[in-house]
Amino acid sequence: MTALKTPVPLRKVLVGIDPYGAPEIEGVVRLNVNENPFPPSSAMRSALTAAVTHVISEVNRYPDRDAVALRADLARYLDAGLTADNIWVANGSNEVMAQLLLAFGGPRRKVATLTPTYSMYPQYARDTMTTYVTAPRNDDYTVDVDTLRRLWKAERPDILILTTPNNPTGTQTSLDVIAVAAELPWLLVVDEAYQEFTEKPAESATKLLPAHPNVVVSRTMSKAFALAGVRLGYLAADPSIIDACKIVRLPYHLGTQTQAMAQAALAHSQEPLQHVAQLRETCQATQAWLRQLGLTVPPSQANFTLFGPFDDRHAVWQELLDRGVLVREVGPEGFLRVSMGTPAEMILFREALVDVLDARQMRKATP
Ligand SMILES: *Cc1c(COP(=O)(O)O)cnc(C)c1O
Repeated sequence: MTALKTPVPLRKVLVGIDPYGAPEIEGVVRLNVNENPFPPSSAMRSALTAAVTHVISEVNRYPDRDAVALRADLARYLDAGLTADNIWVANGSNEVMAQLLLAFGGPRRKVATLTPTYSMYPQYARDTMTTYVTAPRNDDYTVDVDTLRRLWKAERPDILILTTPNNPTGTQTSLDVIAVAAELPWLLVVDEAYQEFTEKPAESATKLLPAHPNVVVSRTMSKAFALAGVRLGYLAADPSIIDACKIVRLPYHLGTQTQAMAQAALAHSQEPLQHVAQLRETCQATQAWLRQLGLTVPPSQANFTLFGPFDDRHAVWQELLDRGVLVREVGPEGFLRVSMGTPAEMILFREALVDVLDARQMRKATP
């Protein structure tokens, strides 16, 4: 970091902190941030372009502040008996989550997560001056009712963020367990960023919403919808929570072009969702293949998988990168995470990994 030249020092908690983010490297197979690897088809490109062209004559005006039409479309997409009043939208679910903590976190409030989990959560807590506490998942990364009750008793958090399928482990938490969490008097934020990749996407915490005004379900168009570049995240919750988000959002936070492209993508959702089925199969096949190599692979219901353990995971990460494949160094000690790519990308990943394991005399079997 460049030395600070202002006479005002940085907030103490920010001193020495590097900006968050995975390395961005060009010209390699990028399997490191769980994107949908399939670019939009020409039909989808036309739809997105037409949507932007349609609104371009109005860009002298601020966007629809409350993105009402987009929220109605998302309510319809979720198909859980919700209306626009139950939906809120922002620039990625990262912003949705930050707004939730602005509204319900803050000094003398506590947010809890179950680790290992998504590495952005501590950052939202820090930036909103919310105390961040964690409890460990079980050894197999699952969460059960005992885990939740223990966490409640020990910490009494105001907010619990429960991620299912969990990043970076891929672990799903059943609706039965989430329903128990919903009975406790905290704000329960269920981060379902990867829900569409699961075997039963309809088994969503959105089912709990009508009876539980303390439940928030967070979703994104970055992963399954293949729209990471557009930045569109959303949540489903009781209308009172939507109203709270409106208080803390920055004015006109969601651009006209973002709203238009998200609506166009929703109107053509069959295309990305078809690829989701393919990516789900790729994930199951990749997990089986990694296990045949003798690696430990926790079951994943998402579009990525952990694999390991390695004595020196950074060295393995670098050796894969040297062979043109970028994976993520994240999660439990010794493990790496790989996102599911196109068939051609997965072949390159397999070749690179076999090569690295052979060089390290680590391959236990030939699949
Ligand atoms: C990728 C991801 C998100 C989504 O981020 P966006 O800001 O919507 O791109 C949210 N939660 C988890 C756990 C994720 O892995």
